[in-house]
Amino acid sequence: MTPRRTLLKSAAAAFALSLATPALVQAKEPIPIVATFSILGDMVARIGGEHVAVTTLVGPDGDAHVYQPTPADARAVSTADVLFVNGLEFEGWIDRLIDASDFGGTRVVATTGIEAIPFEEGDDHHDEHGDDDHAEHGHDDHAKDKHDEHGHDDHAGHDHGAFDPHAWQSLENAVTLENAVTYVDNITAALAQADPANAADYYKNRAAYVAEIEALDAELLALMQALPENARTVVTSHDAFGYFAARYGLTFEAPIGLSTESEASAADVAKLIVQIRKEKISAVFVETITDNRLMEQIVRETGAQIGGTLYSDALSGPDGPASTYLDMMRHNATTLSQALGS
Ligand code: ZN
Repeated sequence: MTPRRTLLKSAAAAFALSLATPALVQAKEPIPIVATFSILGDMVARIGGEHVAVTTLVGPDGDAHVYQPTPADARAVSTADVLFVNGLEFEGWIDRLIDASDFGGTRVVATTGIEAIPFEEGDDHHDEHGDDDHAEHGHDDHAKDKHDEHGHDDHAGHDHGAFDPHAWQSLENAVTLENAVTYVDNITAALAQADPANAADYYKNRAAYVAEIEALDAELLALMQALPENARTVVTSHDAFGYFAARYGLTFEAPIGLSTESEASAADVAKLIVQIRKEKISAVFVETITDNRLMEQIVRETGAQIGGTLYSDALSGPDGPASTYLDMMRHNATTLSQALGS
């Protein structure tokens, strides 16, 4: 028997050993990971399992578009081996947070490889309003941040907010079968690289997760295809459901644009009210991350009903109906189906 095994005879001795030799224990500890928002954090936790300790910056019901990072966030980023971000301009504050921290790990853009939906200028209020905001904001960012080090992927070749960042809102994509699976593949590859000893476990978790994603995608397609053709237009607060719309055959209208940073103008709201009346849109959905007074006003003025609550950019708390990414997708589809199918 080796001296070490003798020491491990009792739990107390093992604890003493763990205090005395942190390096030995550290090798078995989960690797520190940061994910920017709850949906991404859940995906990382599914792939990483027991091997990762995930800190999520923007928690349940939080709005990542307008998030203000805290000193605790900077500390979490400083100690992270891997930082997962959505990209596509979703986290406008991430470069400043990284600059304010002592981050020496790998930054992974989870949407890399996804065929992003371009922002349709000209058929949205966004080009009339909000442009000034975005131009100023964008220039500031570009001047201050070190884009040659970080963020090449999400800044090169297009203007601020030129693509819809909400790519998690589709489980799959009719053409390339990507979206959620692309997130999962990017996460799996990054974890396997950061922690090669457990790579086999990450790929095993990936396979189980992808099977669930594919099964749920088929379930959602069937549910949405069962809706009457003339009951597939819905109204939400902000344009978060472009990928869902493209995959599952619905049309979403929203008074606020792609980011909750912008505000709906009176003219936009009036136009939407006219459209709801003209097209006899019967259901308006509230979101957990946005102020719902605007939607309540729209409901009062059109006679439409509140069809339910959709989770756009954040999960619910652990006791809510959308505490995981897959539960969120199922909840949204079920809520839409119940409101539109009746
Ligand atoms: Zn959003």
